[in-house]
Order: sequence, then structure tokens, then C-alpha cells
Amino acid sequence: MNCLQRAKEKISSGARLERDDILALYEDNDLLYLAEAARHVKESKTGKKVFYTVNRHINLTNVCKANCPLCAYQCKSGSNRAFTLELDDVAKILSQVPSPQSLSEIHIVSSLHPTKDFAYYLDAVKLVKKILPHVGINAFTPVEVVNFSQISGQSVAAVLSELIGAGVTSLAGGGAEILSDRVREIICPKKCSAAQWLEVMRTAHRLGLRTNASMMFGHVETIAERVDHLLTLRKLQDETGGFVAMMLFPFHPANTELGKTFDLRGVGSWENLKMLALSRLTLDNFAHFKAFWVMLTLPIAQLALSFGADDLDGTLGEEKIIHAAGAKSSTAITRETLEKIISEVGYQPVERDSFYNEV
Ligand code: SF4
Repeated sequence: MNCLQRAKEKISSGARLERDDILALYEDNDLLYLAEAARHVKESKTGKKVFYTVNRHINLTNVCKANCPLCAYQCKSGSNRAFTLELDDVAKILSQVPSPQSLSEIHIVSSLHPTKDFAYYLDAVKLVKKILPHVGINAFTPVEVVNFSQISGQSVAAVLSELIGAGVTSLAGGGAEILSDRVREIICPKKCSAAQWLEVMRTAHRLGLRTNASMMFGHVETIAERVDHLLTLRKLQDETGGFVAMMLFPFHPANTELGKTFDLRGVGSWENLKMLALSRLTLDNFAHFKAFWVMLTLPIAQLALSFGADDLDGTLGEEKIIHAAGAKSSTAITRETLEKIISEVGYQPVERDSFYNEV
């Protein structure tokens, strides 16, 4: 039996895929086979339900000291694109949220500001908690947590405990990119290392703070590095069980140094859907996969529901990071539109909170 046949046997019997199996399935390139297998896994976990949430994104600042080649969002202080929200600005944004009682989650991620201290970020969380005590606060990636640890001189565990005390209810899953130091040295040399990203997640899970996970692909990584990234996430999930959902980010090269240096064209729909299905088949210990419509566009996000995704993420209200890199999607969407997209493919729309409790 060759590698591909063995991989398909494992899928039929529900056995766990290993590195060679996943690489063989990638090489085989049979998109419709992968779709059917991934959809079967999705339905075995969450049936006909497809989730979405009513949320609002807040980016506190885009001024950043890291200057990652992958990033179109960052800028230097003094740039005409630079913004940094103070507490009054955050309060104003929250006061403009329509029907705040219907909101389930506030999502806060930002850049690594060169002069703001840890108290600035804690105060922003406390303010959100004070104004909207009923919402979940999904905030900060491990990259930001490592920065908080460095600027405050506290351990990662102490930083996470303070964030929990301020009101953070789950950690964002971004900044993982590809968990390979070879790749990170090229795309984001000043961000935390792969080991640090994993250690923040492990510590968060130990403290009872659940988190999401992600992969940004389609830049300088090899296919084997993508597979190793998935296997690393699966191993940590075996250990802690603390990941709530997985999200794939296709790299958007527009307005990035990386895009120019390597003449990158972006990830096509075939590759997006293939990686989603393969990830669903690999990460057998993840219950939920998001099809992030901002990244994928609405039509592809809808198709992704047939490739293993069971969540369209949220209404957002506003999104700045991916649009800085040229995303053409809208920056907000209504609950009705999300429900229509889900219903059209024969699934049942279910509004959720950060932990997939039905709202
Ligand atoms: S990816 Fe994040 S850390 Fe890197 S430059 Fe952009 S905002 Fe800064």
C-alpha cells in the first residue's frame, strides 16, 4: 500500500493522520475528495450547525516597533497613518456600538507600541469590562503577551494573570504565522519565537484561559513547514485541550515588504480550500474551524463551509489589519447576511459566544 492509499485508509477508519499521510494528500491535490472527508469530520463534531458571533474589533494602535516584513498594518510614530486610541477614544467607540446588549464579544489586538506601558493595555480592558460587563473579551496574541512581559519585567504567567484580572476571557490566536524559526527569521524576525508563542499558549491554558490558534500561510514557508505547524498545534492541544478554534490566514502580500521582496501573488481559492480541508483532517482534536470571511471574501467563506469550517466568525463592526494588506471585503457585516450565507448551503445558523455556547 502506498502512502496515499494508507492516508485514505486512515481517513476512512477515523485513524489519526501523520506527517507523511498529510504530505501525500497535499501532493495528490484531489480537492473534492478532501472536501468530502473534511465535511464528514465537521459534521461528526458539530452536525449541521454553523456558528457566528456578534462582535466588535478594536485595534488600539498601529504604531509598532517590530517592523515585520509581513505586515502592512504597522507604521512609525509621526506617520500620517499612525493612530493610538486613548481611553476616551475607546469609550467613544463603545458608546457608538448599536444594540450593545446583543454584543457577545469584543476582540482587541494591536501592534507593539514603542512607548505605551502594560498599564495602558490593562486599562483599556478594564474600561471595556466596565462599560460592557456582559461581553467576552478576546484579546491580545502571544506576540503581545511576550511584549507585555518584556516591557513590564514580569513573567508571562504574571502578565496573563493580570490580564485575566482585568477582564480578558480568552486569548487571540494570531501571531503564530508558521511556527518555524527559519520562517520567522524572514517574515517577522523581531516577533516572539515559535517556542515563546507555544509557551504563552501553554501557560494560558494552565491558568484556565482558553485561546484560539492560527496559521498564516502562502509566503516563504514550505509545504512540510505548514504540516509541521499543524502537528505542533495538535501536540499542544493533546497536552492542554485549551484551544477553542483554529483559523487559517492566507497571506495578503499587498503593501508589505515581504510581498515585494519575494514577488508574492497571494493565495488562490483552490489552495485556501485545500489547506482548510487538510487542516481539519489533521487537527482531529480541534472542535471548531473558522472561515474568516474578511480574509477569504464572503463567496469563498461560504464555500469553506463545505471544506470543514463550522464558523464564519463575526460581524466585526470594523477591521483594520487585514484591510491594510489589501483585503477587498467589507469591514462589517450584518447578522442577517451571515445567517443567509449559512442557510444557503443547507446548514443551520447558530449565534455563539467566545466559547461556542449558543446565544
Ligand atoms: S505583524 Fe504585529 S508585531 Fe509585526 S509589525 Fe505588524 S503589528 Fe507589529
